[in-house]
Amino acid sequence: MITDTYIWLERLSSLHRSLMRKAANAEGMQLVQIEILQYLAMCNRYSNTAQALSEYLGQTKGSISQSLKCLEEQNLVERKPCTEDGRIVRLYLTAKSKEIMKRIEKRLTPDIHDDEKTIAAFKSILKTWQRQKNQKGFGQCRSCRFNIDKGDGSFLCGLTDEPLKKAETMQICREHEFA
Ligand code: SF4
Repeated sequence: MITDTYIWLERLSSLHRSLMRKAANAEGMQLVQIEILQYLAMCNRYSNTAQALSEYLGQTKGSISQSLKCLEEQNLVERKPCTEDGRIVRLYLTAKSKEIMKRIEKRLTPDIHDDEKTIAAFKSILKTWQRQKNQKGFGQCRSCRFNIDKGDGSFLCGLTDEPLKKAETMQICREHEFA
């Protein structure tokens, strides 16, 4: 049975997708390319890999790799070996793609102030939906069960045991788990 929750979720996601498609057209790019740039603009330092992108967008590694090649050729994405583990290649926005993302965020972000109750409702829906569909990860760091607020303005990731900057707690993470 189609519930009211499902209908409103569908409306939100289809509106977002339609706006993304328009933004992609305005930039002369494909939707998937904009989705990749948007992901890289939001994700944290543990999540900026081709594998994470493929999980996040639900696309095959082959198709992500094609799109990344195209973005690299246009100087919109840069690959660099991980400084801690040379076997891992990390992906970064370039100055050129950061400018594109500024324009896209302007086009897409609704002029609605963050409201605690609304955000709590969004989080609750995501948590329930992910659990029911056996999906995980990609939540905002500050809502993760491993996020430790040390109370003095600093944060720690309890999974990696590494310090987190406050700005990083706003990003999304592949390893995120709801409390
Ligand atoms: S606290 Fe959770 S979301 Fe944040 S970096 Fe660690 S694993 Fe990722």
